[in-house]
Amino acid sequence: MVISDKTPITFKDKLPEAVDVVVIGAGIIGISIAYFLGKQGVSVLVCEKGRVAGEQSSRNWGWVRQQGRHSSELPIMKESLHIWKGLSAEIGEDLGFRQAGCLYLAETNAMQKENEQWLDVARQHQLDTRLINAKETNELLGQTNSHWKSAIYTASDGRAEPRIAVPRLARAAQRLDVKIIENCAVRSLDLSAGKLKGVVTEMGRVRARRVVSATGAWSSLLLGHHNVSLPQLKVKGCVARTSPVANFYLGNAVSEKIAFRKRQDGGYTIALADHTTHNISPNSFRYFPKFVPLMRKSFQDVSFKLDQSFFSDISRRSRWNENQITPFEKTRVLNPLPDPKLLIQMRKHLQKYVPELANTPFVETWAGMIETSPDVLPIISEIDTIPGFHVVAGLSGHGFGIGPAIGRVMADLLIGRPPGHDLKRFKLSRFQDGTPIDLENAA
Ligand SMILES: Cc1cc2nc3c(=O)[nH]c(=O)nc-3n(C[C@H](O)[C@H](O)[C@H](O)COP(=O)(O)OP(=O)(O)OC[C@H]3O[C@@H](n4cnc5c(N)ncnc54)[C@H](O)[C@@H]3O)c2cc1C
Repeated sequence: MVISDKTPITFKDKLPEAVDVVVIGAGIIGISIAYFLGKQGVSVLVCEKGRVAGEQSSRNWGWVRQQGRHSSELPIMKESLHIWKGLSAEIGEDLGFRQAGCLYLAETNAMQKENEQWLDVARQHQLDTRLINAKETNELLGQTNSHWKSAIYTASDGRAEPRIAVPRLARAAQRLDVKIIENCAVRSLDLSAGKLKGVVTEMGRVRARRVVSATGAWSSLLLGHHNVSLPQLKVKGCVARTSPVANFYLGNAVSEKIAFRKRQDGGYTIALADHTTHNISPNSFRYFPKFVPLMRKSFQDVSFKLDQSFFSDISRRSRWNENQITPFEKTRVLNPLPDPKLLIQMRKHLQKYVPELANTPFVETWAGMIETSPDVLPIISEIDTIPGFHVVAGLSGHGFGIGPAIGRVMADLLIGRPPGHDLKRFKLSRFQDGTPIDLENAA
């Protein structure tokens, strides 16, 4: 079952008076930061307004891929893959990680060309990505159809099970004495004369010298409350899972139309490739100039919708008093509904392209709000105006795979250790200092 505000609360530690670090948000990013800090013996509190992994981190496709990423993300992603490989054994619980490969299928010449271009990036980063012909593609898929001209394939890529991975990692963090509290929204930072003192939660104040926002789709709202502009938009993605079916391909595969990957429960996770819906919101206008390049590039993949959510967003306060109920408490878990038309389309594409799943029933369907930055790259940044306050956001539809290494990087930054990667590319200031929006290989 999808994680929602009906899911029983299971993380209910006592609110401490003071900790070294407060992490706001218990998705893959917040929990990974907390886990790596816990390993260093740092005292940590994770506040989650809804449920651990209730939003993007349990609703995603579960792909842990290097393939197709922007070159600037690849060193961190390679580290993340390494972490994923050892993490289940390290915490003594299966996170569903399997190194079963990733296929980008080309049905058209245009797609073939796009795939081939990425091979240069793969070479620069010494990845095992290969261009494979139609025959080998069909062999890998266990198919005999004539749709695929070629594919690129990265055998070292993997998949994990989003719904179990983050809650299990959260339990492992608790065993390291990390405190985690669900239904505990952070209403605001606790500032005194502009200096960070900690956070104000709906359960009370907590003192901390360092605070990290890992609030996913809520980052722009939380930072905006503190006069920090973080350009961010949301799109909705629909997903289905099938009942168990005989194995035919055990990795991740995507064509121009359809994406599928084997699940640990024997079924497949299915989604339309590159099809999302953007509900027009006040942020669509506020951040429009920054998102123009991305909209130009992805216009054909996004449906734009204007509905009553526009008016509820307009009426939502962007400033509040810390004694009042905030928007974070009003929406414990973002739980959008899947669009029935898109589910019908998925079924049609399966019938055409994946005959093995043509009639396999969907046993569950759901949707998730994906947050994105203007250049589809993460934001990993300390906020200059509030020393001690850091933000990780903008994971842009591919933060599950890279999450564990981002957690490790952020944890080291917070304890004053070198992060081991050049993070200049991910600073929030790139959206304010006139740096051109670079969408090279945006994925
Ligand atoms: C449909 C879909 C498919 C995807 N497929 C993939 C994929 O295959 N591979 C991949 O790598 N990535 C994928 N992604 C992207 C990936 O899921 C996200 O990038 C990643 O989960 C982001 O993690 P996060 O921790 O930053 O955010 P989230 O998981 O959204 O967590 C943020 C948390 O912060 C909490 N929060 C917000 N404000 C407050 C507050 N004030 N106080 C307390 N708590 C707060 C929220 O309740 C939420 O639980 C997909 C996403 C979706 C939706």
